[in-house]
Amino acid sequence: MELLEKCREEVIQYSRLLYQRGLVTAAGGNVSMRCKDQVVITASGVSLRDTSRETLILCDLEGRLLECPQGLKPSKETVFHLKIYQTWEDVDSVIHVHPAYAVGYSIQDRRIPILTASAKMKVVDVPVIPYAEPGTEALALYVEQAVREAPRHIHAAVLKAHGIIAYEKGMSQCFDTAELVEDTAHIAADVREKSRKQRSRTSQRRRPQNSRIKSRTGRQQRESPL
Ligand SMILES: [Zn+2]
Repeated sequence: MELLEKCREEVIQYSRLLYQRGLVTAAGGNVSMRCKDQVVITASGVSLRDTSRETLILCDLEGRLLECPQGLKPSKETVFHLKIYQTWEDVDSVIHVHPAYAVGYSIQDRRIPILTASAKMKVVDVPVIPYAEPGTEALALYVEQAVREAPRHIHAAVLKAHGIIAYEKGMSQCFDTAELVEDTAHIAADVREKSRKQRSRTSQRRRPQNSRIKSRTGRQQRESPL
C-alpha cells in the first residue's frame, strides 16, 4: 500500500477507536499523521467516530491545503499538530482527545499521579500546559514550548481544562500512550476516592467514641461536685 494511503487508513482506524474507547465525545478531538512532508489530519466539526476517507484533509508542514473535501476545513488545532512535527522529525503521529479523568486532574492544577508499573515505565510524567482558548495561536505556542522542553522519553501532555495530546513515532504507539494516560488518571482518581471514603469512615467510627468520652467526662464533671 502506498505510504500516504497507509497513513489515511491509520488515521481513520484510530480516530474511530478513540471514540469507541470513550477518549473523546461529540465532535471533539483531532488526529493526524505525517507522511514525509505532508500531513493527513481530521476535519473540524466532524466527530472522530465519523472519520472516513471522504472527511480527511491533506496539508503540508506549513499548513497549506493540498486536498480538502468541499465544505470541510482542517481541525482548528492543526497549528499545534504542525508545530509538534516541526519540533521533532521522528514524530509522525499526533492524537488530541478530551478524556474525563486526565482533564479533571488538570482542572485541579494537579499532575496525574503515576502509580502503576506500566505508567512508570511508559508514561513517566505528563506535563500540564497552561490554559489558552482552543484553536488559538497562543495554545499552539504553549504546546510547542512544552513539547520542546519535555525530555525525549515523554510523549504526552495535558492541556489545562481541555484535553491530552500524545505524540509518537507510530500511530499504534500514539494511541497506546493516549489510552494509558487516561487509564493512569482513572486509576489515580479511584485510589483517591477510595482513600477519601476510608478516611471518612474512620473519622465516623471515631466520632461516637469521642462523644461518649465527652459525655462521660461531662457526667463526671457534673457528678464530681457530689
Ligand atoms: Zn480539544
